[in-house]
Amino acid sequence: MLENAFLGDQVGRLGFGAMRLPVVDGDASRIDQAALDAMVDAALNAGVNYFDTAYPYHGGMSEIALGRSLARYPRESFFLASKYPGHQVADAYDPASLFEEQLQKCGVDRFDFYLLHNVYEASIDVYTDERWGIADYFVEQKKAGRIRHLGFSCHGRPETLAAFLDFGARKYTELEERSPETAALFAGSNIMEFCQIQLNYLDQTLQDGAAKTALLEDASMPVVVMEPLRGGKLANLPDAQMQQLEAAAAGRSAVEWSFRWLQGAENVKVILSGMSSLEQVEENCQLFQASAPLTEAEEEVLMDVAESLKDGVPCTACRYCTDPCPQQIDIPLMLATYNDKQFDASFTISMQMDAVPEGQRAEDCIGCGACSRACPQGIDVPAALADLTATLAKMPKWADLCRQRAEAAAKLQASRPS
Ligand code: SF4
Ligand code: SF4
Repeated sequence: MLENAFLGDQVGRLGFGAMRLPVVDGDASRIDQAALDAMVDAALNAGVNYFDTAYPYHGGMSEIALGRSLARYPRESFFLASKYPGHQVADAYDPASLFEEQLQKCGVDRFDFYLLHNVYEASIDVYTDERWGIADYFVEQKKAGRIRHLGFSCHGRPETLAAFLDFGARKYTELEERSPETAALFAGSNIMEFCQIQLNYLDQTLQDGAAKTALLEDASMPVVVMEPLRGGKLANLPDAQMQQLEAAAAGRSAVEWSFRWLQGAENVKVILSGMSSLEQVEENCQLFQASAPLTEAEEEVLMDVAESLKDGVPCTACRYCTDPCPQQIDIPLMLATYNDKQFDASFTISMQMDAVPEGQRAEDCIGCGACSRACPQGIDVPAALADLTATLAKMPKWADLCRQRAEAAAKLQASRPS
């Protein structure tokens, strides 16, 4: 297994994501423990040693099932990562009780990697609000040895990522003044030691992956990648794109192209794959036996394929259209969301829209056409926004999803012996 130094540990570059585990009868909260155990056995045998779960995965059951599976192995043989759900806890900002519950659910007395989950436009205020003391509490847990490395995951835009990096640096400076010996425990000059982002050859542009990785590189912050296959969508490409790839390298699978592209990124320490079967574990482990980053020519082919997979509008974010808009809609942002959904309408679309102030969302467009008249690209903005609104109307709302997850977690907590 390919491995690299990550904050002082030797960590396999392929990581085991526990958000799409095998389940019984299609019920996401009933994880098939025997199937998971077989997957964990195969992964560990192949050299995977980084396991990533989170409080809300599988209705709260992922932490329990993964903890059970890993408990069959010596604690020092694996690194366990989990996440604090500050992005969805609405009225109970109590990091201490949640953290204790997570340790108990996972059956461990420390997390090797612990992340503030999903820092984005709507959650950054929660994470940076001194009233909740979230960052301070987890700094204390690191000092106590119950967290080895503190970090965060981010689905936000580059400016939100930059703002949170600034927050972490500011907290580090304060800590250095107050308690230099605690500050010395951190890997750099930021209380956030690593960052997890969504990255693959499509999101390099669709979700501003290039800008985010540049920001993290400037901050000397190591990266963990999630969604390397964009929820599996990049594992099964249309025939035309597959033929283009086949012409460049015969016999290479779409999955292999995706992983090889990421292997070329030096700052990427772990590439998480949310695996659902033993076959996927075996296939992925095989692809990480040796380093095989793409050549420049191959990368060009893959970027061509990425462009051809997009089916959106050619917005350059010049913002000529925003001043004339009577609804003050952030049109380039809406069109970026539209382009994203044209490839795959995942939950992030609904999450992004939820973070936009009411009255300025795609649904608030009155169709006046002032934007299109100002647009040098000739984009039919009202049509794209109407299409986006129609898609969103068919999707579960992010706020409802968060509430359902919180209810599932509360139910699970109530059903467990105290
Ligand atoms: S058509 Fe919609 S987005 Fe465009 S200017 Fe009018 S209200 Fe704004
Ligand atoms: S004017 Fe056209 S290209 Fe420029 S931001 Fe607006 S929609 Fe995009």
